[in-house]
Amino acid sequence: MACCDAPGLMPIEEAMEKMLSRIKPIQSTLQLPLAEALGYVLAEDILSPIFVPPFDNSAMDGYAIRIADLQSTKTLPVAGKSFAGQPFTDQWPQGTCVRIMTGAKIPQGCDAVIMQENTQVTDSGVLFQQETIKPQENIRPTGDDIKQGDIVLPKGARLSPRDIPMIASLGVSHVNVVRKPKVAFFSTGDELKPLGQALEEGQIYDSNRYGIKPLIENFGCEPIDLGIIPDCPETLKQTFEKAQSLADVVVTSGGVSVGEADYTKDILEQLGEIGFWKLAIKPGKPFAFGELENAWFCGLPGNPVSAVLTMYVLVQPMLAKLAGHTEWTAPESIPAITKAGFKKAPGRTDYQRGIYSIENGQFVVESTGNQSSGAFRSMSLANCFVVLERERGRVEAGETVQIQLFNSTLY
Ligand code: AMP
Ligand code: MG
Repeated sequence: MACCDAPGLMPIEEAMEKMLSRIKPIQSTLQLPLAEALGYVLAEDILSPIFVPPFDNSAMDGYAIRIADLQSTKTLPVAGKSFAGQPFTDQWPQGTCVRIMTGAKIPQGCDAVIMQENTQVTDSGVLFQQETIKPQENIRPTGDDIKQGDIVLPKGARLSPRDIPMIASLGVSHVNVVRKPKVAFFSTGDELKPLGQALEEGQIYDSNRYGIKPLIENFGCEPIDLGIIPDCPETLKQTFEKAQSLADVVVTSGGVSVGEADYTKDILEQLGEIGFWKLAIKPGKPFAFGELENAWFCGLPGNPVSAVLTMYVLVQPMLAKLAGHTEWTAPESIPAITKAGFKKAPGRTDYQRGIYSIENGQFVVESTGNQSSGAFRSMSLANCFVVLERERGRVEAGETVQIQLFNSTLY
């Protein structure tokens, strides 16, 4: 279906649907030591084998008491001590207290821990100065954090720096995870020069590989950099063949815009089934997607903003599906008030680069300036995308727009 306002352009939602409906999650899994599992997607639920904490313990340094013992007196002699890792195991006589430290096991029969700041050590024992004592005060009960058998993380969650220590608290040393998707990428173009070399006439530096790689790596996938490939059919074909033998996904930049597409098309037709799409998105209109014999293919436009944007908006959701990362969600939209106007013509969904801030509790946003798809400074300056709906025209100052804060892969 073509987009109504701009004939021949495919709405981004339709492109996403077409891609995602074809991708099947990677089935191959591996067992990793917990310390090496950061960023991997869980291949199975994690169930807690124990209660955390495993025993009732003290939340404070102070004294373990039986509240009833303080009915007729304010002073109790100390019968012993319970330190972290060294529980009190003796008989506990009535009318006495036990010195206790944070994390130490609560002695049998204790129904409150009084923090030491509310006590005073005297010759006849500890004087309790606290007026009211709540039952179970300063006691962290068994299983307070996690119950035995709880599903603490579901299959399909990606392990974050916040998850790893929680799993460690269960004593789980190894986890089953999905193999990371491998993404081979290369830049195409006779004009591209590697960094560190002087530019000759008509040349520019290849910046796209530096934009694409972090979006693969930060997304929990394994990048395979195949360099710069000139616009030469033989070399291109060889590179595609190498790429698909190494990776689950082949990502290229350049060579999909009008003029160059025909030529890339010829090569890809021999290697698989590729659709060259015209998407109702700005920037990023020329985009190719398809299947090589052994890998998925995503052809990003060469303009640097377009390349990174399509990688972020279109390729990342696909990588999430491939990785079995079912907990992943696309960046959310937040309403914001514009501080100045935004140029916009109906027909395509714009992803303009914006700078948001919060003024009087309200999100406000302004443009980063030059919105050319070749001007990457607009990405560097931005802290959000300003997503302007397909049908929308020019936006004036004071109007409400939807912004998307960058996810952690762009931050
Ligand atoms: P193309 O999609 O190959 O027609 O390229 C569109 C524009 O993006 C042209 O101005 C190219 O010079 C530029 N371009 C293509 N590849 C890269 C790259 N890897 N780094 C920076 N600019 C590029
Ligand atoms: Mg090119």
